[in-house]
Amino acid sequence: MWQQESKSVYDNFVLRNKTLILFFVFVFFLLATRLFQLQIISAKYYALVSEKQCLHIVLERPQRGKIYDVNGDILANNEISFAAYFYPFFQRNAPSQETINKLQKISRKKNLEEIIQRGYKIGKSVKIAGNLSFEEMLRYSEQKVALPGLSVVKESRRKYLSATQNAHLIGYVNEISKEELDTTAEEYADYQPGDLVGRTGIEQSFDSYLRGNNGGWQVEVNAQGKQTRVLNRIDPVAGSDVYITIDNKLQEVATQAIAQTVSGRGALVALDTKTGAVKAFVSAPSFNPEYVGTPKFSIYLTDDTSPLFNRALKGLYPPGSAFKIISLLGALENGNISVEGTFFCNGSLKVGDKIFHCEGKHGEISAIGAMTHSCNVYFYNLALKTGSAVLEKYARYFGFGEKTGIDLYDEKSGLVPGREWKFNKFKERWQTGDTLNMAIGQGQVLCTPLQLAQMISCAANKGYIYRPYIVQSIKNKQSNEVLYSATIDKRLSVKASEKNWQILNKALESVIRNGTGKGCYLGSIRVAGKTGTSQTSHGTAHAIFVCFAPVDDPQIAIAVIVENGGSGGTAAVPVARKVLEEYFKIVEVKKEKDDKKQ
Ligand SMILES: [Zn+2]
Repeated sequence: MWQQESKSVYDNFVLRNKTLILFFVFVFFLLATRLFQLQIISAKYYALVSEKQCLHIVLERPQRGKIYDVNGDILANNEISFAAYFYPFFQRNAPSQETINKLQKISRKKNLEEIIQRGYKIGKSVKIAGNLSFEEMLRYSEQKVALPGLSVVKESRRKYLSATQNAHLIGYVNEISKEELDTTAEEYADYQPGDLVGRTGIEQSFDSYLRGNNGGWQVEVNAQGKQTRVLNRIDPVAGSDVYITIDNKLQEVATQAIAQTVSGRGALVALDTKTGAVKAFVSAPSFNPEYVGTPKFSIYLTDDTSPLFNRALKGLYPPGSAFKIISLLGALENGNISVEGTFFCNGSLKVGDKIFHCEGKHGEISAIGAMTHSCNVYFYNLALKTGSAVLEKYARYFGFGEKTGIDLYDEKSGLVPGREWKFNKFKERWQTGDTLNMAIGQGQVLCTPLQLAQMISCAANKGYIYRPYIVQSIKNKQSNEVLYSATIDKRLSVKASEKNWQILNKALESVIRNGTGKGCYLGSIRVAGKTGTSQTSHGTAHAIFVCFAPVDDPQIAIAVIVENGGSGGTAAVPVARKVLEEYFKIVEVKKEKDDKKQ
């Protein structure tokens, strides 16, 4: 009964106070929601704010990948250097003008204030000087007490083997510029202020493999700007090692040989005819890449021999008589001449009212003889029969007028002129004289030493062109995983009959045995080649020589240019000879024989 009674009391209470209860439940729900918001959501928010205020990154840079030549010599390495860093966030407030002025006094950087402000804003350390000399190191160290946040740290610096000799091949590194950091360009998106960037050469084209990833410490700094603890450390990841096809010994021989020529200026490119691998790549004069960013570098800027210009890759020269290779094959294939047919050279040829000259008086001369002795009159007559369109077509087949696609940036594509080109460029009609000049590689034809090497390699391979490449492979240091491997890129570019290739080969070998290329005769190692003398409006003609060897099974193709060297036979042939001797180890064989005699 009691139960019944009390139940009815309870029911009555509920009935009477229903509104009140609902009200309390509602209030409780509101309070709980607010509590949740305060405790959980806001806590996260406030933690985030406090983290922003006291956590900072102290960068640590990785070792850049090394560059090895084909024999395992390290062409680009790293050595210890010292740099001065400033941690703007170690100051309680933004760095004062006084601090900035003090730092500016001892730093070589001009826009230091901007760099420091940027570092303060994003909570990152700022590099204020790299590659410190001993005196600079002392100067910075002395200031450390007066300038809290200033610190001298160990870094690595690029060190090159045969630095000046290989500068145009390997390239150099320097710090990313303010302009590059400010751009929205994708390629600079993940660079930090003070990071090194590869410039020119392999350093540039394979920078993404070489540079590695920054690491560093995440540092907690208290309200007074003092470092309280290191929270997290990310190890920097070293860059990957790059293995190239270049033989540094060949580089050395080629460099010295060019240095010994009359001008000391020029270029040499040697290619593996079976793969397209570049064995030597020299441009002279050159510069010391370790001077970059130092006052010493300024000597190159005013040097009128242009040591910073990569002649092998970007130098444009008329090919001179080396072009006769193209003219001869084009004319043979097109049926304009026969190997037996002759022309008469009395030292010049008159076409219209213009006289076109030869270097000598060669008399009755055939194709082989005309190549051997580089008779221009023969090729003027050939040009009259062939016409410019064939010359233009075959020049392109041999790779002129187009980039080779080598794994370096900023290659030049040269120029193959023609009727259409001349009309578009000068609004002038193509003249017969233009065709005559073109047949002997003068006039408007322009090519790079790299293209010349590709052209003679193509002749050695009876029409096959291999894309030249320098980087063979790239390996990850830690895992030894191969990240990149060169692919051999071969295409049939000049289609010609076996008979005509043999005529060309015979003519080119005759140049070495009996003609203008005699200086490259190597006895049992059969060499084929062609000299050239390329007229220039700037003084003495450029000396040119292209060759390959051995004739029966070509392995190496070489192109040499000696600026203002005069005749190809005198100035350029001896350079190629030294490289061939080194390549086929002919000097050693001779030496051994001499040793046995003694
Ligand atoms: Zn002649």
